[in-house]
Amino acid sequence: MPNPDLPEVPPGRGIFCNRTLNLRSVRAIGYDMDYTLVDYRVEAFERMVYAQARQRLASEGWPMDGLEFDGSMVTRGLVIDTERGNLVKANRFGFVKRAMHGTRMLEFTEQRDAYAETLVELADPRWVFLNTLFTLSEGCLFAQAVDLLDRGALPRAFEYASLYRHVREGVDAQHMEGHLKAEIAAAPERYVVQDAEAALALLDQKAAGKKLLLITNSDWSFSSKMMAHAYDRHLPEGMTWRQLFDLVIVSARKPAFFTERGPFFEVVDESGLLRPVTAPLRTGGIYLGGSAAQVEKDLGISGDEILYVGDHMFGDVHVSKRTLSWRTALVLRELEGEVAALEAYRPLEVRLMALMAEKESLETQLSQARLNLQRLHAGYGPRSGADAASSETRVHELRNRILALDAVIGPLAKTGSELTNARWGLLTRAGNDKSHLTRQIERYADIYTSRVSNFLHATPYAYFRSPRGSLPHDPPFRLD
Ligand code: IMP
Ligand code: MG
Repeated sequence: MPNPDLPEVPPGRGIFCNRTLNLRSVRAIGYDMDYTLVDYRVEAFERMVYAQARQRLASEGWPMDGLEFDGSMVTRGLVIDTERGNLVKANRFGFVKRAMHGTRMLEFTEQRDAYAETLVELADPRWVFLNTLFTLSEGCLFAQAVDLLDRGALPRAFEYASLYRHVREGVDAQHMEGHLKAEIAAAPERYVVQDAEAALALLDQKAAGKKLLLITNSDWSFSSKMMAHAYDRHLPEGMTWRQLFDLVIVSARKPAFFTERGPFFEVVDESGLLRPVTAPLRTGGIYLGGSAAQVEKDLGISGDEILYVGDHMFGDVHVSKRTLSWRTALVLRELEGEVAALEAYRPLEVRLMALMAEKESLETQLSQARLNLQRLHAGYGPRSGADAASSETRVHELRNRILALDAVIGPLAKTGSELTNARWGLLTRAGNDKSHLTRQIERYADIYTSRVSNFLHATPYAYFRSPRGSLPHDPPFRLD
């Protein structure tokens, strides 16, 4: 029974916990901005980055006519194989479970031939992990560029790896050159999703005594426009986003921000004028660059007293956890669709599990019958009472029943493997197993959630407890 005193939280908007985290003992909460505090309409944002990068490639003589951004072609958590010109989805062990060459999905045998002896190892530069929603345009463009290269349609020679670097440079330039940011700043309502509850969640945290930090790689001009657009209208009269934060750090150069000791500059006016920092960071200050080490020192807060919330699997979460042992939260916007799809699939999944249980039982019987036949033929060991002829009939009959079951299981399993995306399936799973993305989330994100405003219902006093993990040897849950 739902408790009427508690807010009802939609299933995909919970805060999910890998390692127990008591928010009461967190003294400072650092937030990333893009796709964390400020949520963008992915399709609109990536379509624009794609269009600008495409134009740049067209100006180099690439035949780009007819190519368009396809938001379903790639997902976060896929890995680019720069050696073979593929995009792959790997499971938690690094085994490739699905692969696409250019824009064509590989058949099972092609995939096996390509990857039977190869594990995805992200430490090897051959592999490029798609860490954030910002990588969708790049992934799509690369897949299409591979098609062009294979057709001999590019004006100069490339290997797949240099082709990837070229596409990457094209996309990178859009983020660096300013047209993109100018376009968004000119029409933020087209790109930014408003979420009044995020502002309230931050107010709650601040009033509960947490120090709030904004640590973004975006520059001052863009950050101030986006934060004002996304927050000011949801704050109490007369308050602006600036008053929410004890420290604002822009152009932070994460992940180097967490690992190196770059100098801080203070942003001294709205135009972004800078002055070197010689004294400790002061509350209410706006800074550029710098390092997490100095933030820890000047705030007198370190390690597990700081929770950092970001959407970049590597740059925000992995590095802050590994280098500084900060508590970490990953914002995974896709989680809401993922949970909704799983819920809708539940009745079919229950049916599938029942059929699989039946199949397993038939397979066990078949193995026993085959073993009995083998012993009968070879004349050793204990055997069941059945003679060879009836054992053979039994083997035949069991095989036919398994085949008939497979015909029902196949389409059900296919539906399950295509949830949320027909090519790649769920972000968090790979086949029956956890995906490579999920493995990283487990390792580096103490908690994960679909958006910052989910902290509102949790409150600043929440105690997140990790569930008891299941293991293959756990006694099975019965379906009935
Ligand atoms: P944050 O998520 O708030 O740290 O900011 C991310 C910043 O990185 C935004 O300003 C993005 O435009 C920028 N960004 C995202 N992808 C790229 C890229 O491929 N190259 C350069 N900048 C990027
Ligand atoms: Mg971000």
